[in-house]
Amino acid sequence: MTTVVALDVGGTGIKAAVVRDRTPEHEITVPTPVAEGPDAVVSAIRQTVANLIADAGHVDAVGVIAPGPVDAHNGVLISAVNMGWHNVPMRQILQQQFGLPAAVEHDVRAAGLAERVLGRTRGIDDAFTITIGTGIAGLIIARGEPIIGAKALGGEIGHAPVHPEGELCPCGSRGCLERYASASAIARRYQALTGRAATAAECVARLHTDPAARRVWDDATTALGLALATYTTLLDPALIVLGGGLANAGTVLRDPVRAELARRVTWRDVPPVELSPLGSRAGLLGAALVAEAGI
Ligand SMILES: [Zn+2]
Repeated sequence: MTTVVALDVGGTGIKAAVVRDRTPEHEITVPTPVAEGPDAVVSAIRQTVANLIADAGHVDAVGVIAPGPVDAHNGVLISAVNMGWHNVPMRQILQQQFGLPAAVEHDVRAAGLAERVLGRTRGIDDAFTITIGTGIAGLIIARGEPIIGAKALGGEIGHAPVHPEGELCPCGSRGCLERYASASAIARRYQALTGRAATAAECVARLHTDPAARRVWDDATTALGLALATYTTLLDPALIVLGGGLANAGTVLRDPVRAELARRVTWRDVPPVELSPLGSRAGLLGAALVAEAGI
């Protein structure tokens, strides 16, 4: 039996679990103390790992995933817009404190890996898993291999432009996919339109009763369809999987994205678009797989 401690460090919470033979136990979420600065976040990661090791008794390895860019080869968290950290040698920190093998990976790549080992893209050589949460990015699988590109920045489709003169993005560009279709963008755009606060999930619940929620949602699914049309023409995937928190919306997300993709790519059959069966656990499972691979 392999027992690992897995952490999925996000902008608002750290999801963590002891994972025995790829089954999460002792699942917890603790707040990410972003406002207290990067050192506090690193301390929270160390404390969470310590608590779970104490719960588990015996642990073989630790896996931590976080927003990118991440240098998985050297185990370094390079930077992340929300976290404020720069070049944190997380693998070394964990190995020194706990005396265990430790692995670090980009959260979206880890989620895509989980999809490939345990989810919908298993056995498929050309696929794209797009993770839609606070931000948007994806894992490209081509000819059976993950493609991360020349600078390990491949898959950052969240910053693909979908509106030439669109909303300004924190990345410095305009009209990025992420400004329209991430869960945070949906909440922000709904509030801008109505003056009322609502989460993306609350917008989904109001689609049939609230025209503003419908408008924001339609903008999001159209933007996703546009970006995936470009992906399809370039890489010809056999399957596109929608994952991350927004995929909990289910068919109200999947069906209009499928329709927009088909509307934009008329000269060929478009690949099927499916929902991830792993839900918001994909990251945690990916962190466990990364830990396992590092043993
Ligand atoms: Zn951008």
